[in-house]
Amino acid sequence: MKEEVFFNEGKTRLQIVMGDITGQDTEAIVNAANKRLAPGGGVAGAIHRAAGPELWEECKKLGGCETGEAKISGGYRLKAKYVIHTVGPVYNNTPQNARDLENCYLNSLNLAKKHGIRSVSFPAISTGIFGYPLEEAADISLRTVIKFMQDNDLPETVRFVLFGKKDYEVFIKSLQKITAAWDS
Ligand code: ADP
Repeated sequence: MKEEVFFNEGKTRLQIVMGDITGQDTEAIVNAANKRLAPGGGVAGAIHRAAGPELWEECKKLGGCETGEAKISGGYRLKAKYVIHTVGPVYNNTPQNARDLENCYLNSLNLAKKHGIRSVSFPAISTGIFGYPLEEAADISLRTVIKFMQDNDLPETVRFVLFGKKDYEVFIKSLQKITAAWDS
């Protein structure tokens, strides 16, 4: 179950898959973190469990992270060499929410690029505990990533990893809507 779209004359590609982000073989995976970069619940808890206690030890030294910003650490026991931690907005239906969500993707991608990272996996940031409506978040997330990939050579592969069938289908639908608008 995989959808791929090619951009930038085939140099970059976007993938949408259903699965668990902790098992991805991309060079980096992105953590939908909290401001302390602490283990906690949701995807952050799963990443810290899979990476092992060394991840939290390193995170303690990173000085936290503000909403929309991103920090990088090692991946320890993960297949991924790096974890990029970004803090999504807590949804309260204000225009700032969309800007913050966009910044999560942009700052994570810029950090990946700066480190020469060629492939990165993202979860659907803010759509769990932080309550961002999935359809809206999917549109913003995909548009932001696609624009970045059209303008940059790195990372070459960006993979969205959705945790369930419903989330996967929402992302596929959103992507179809975006690409259909190109053709018209
Ligand atoms: P946030 O606080 O940013 O909302 P959450 O961790 O609560 O972060 O959820 C973000 C998204 O990640 C949700 O869509 C959730 O279903 C999903 N998720 C949770 N665990 C995993 C996992 N192991 N792999 C991929 N996605 C996951």
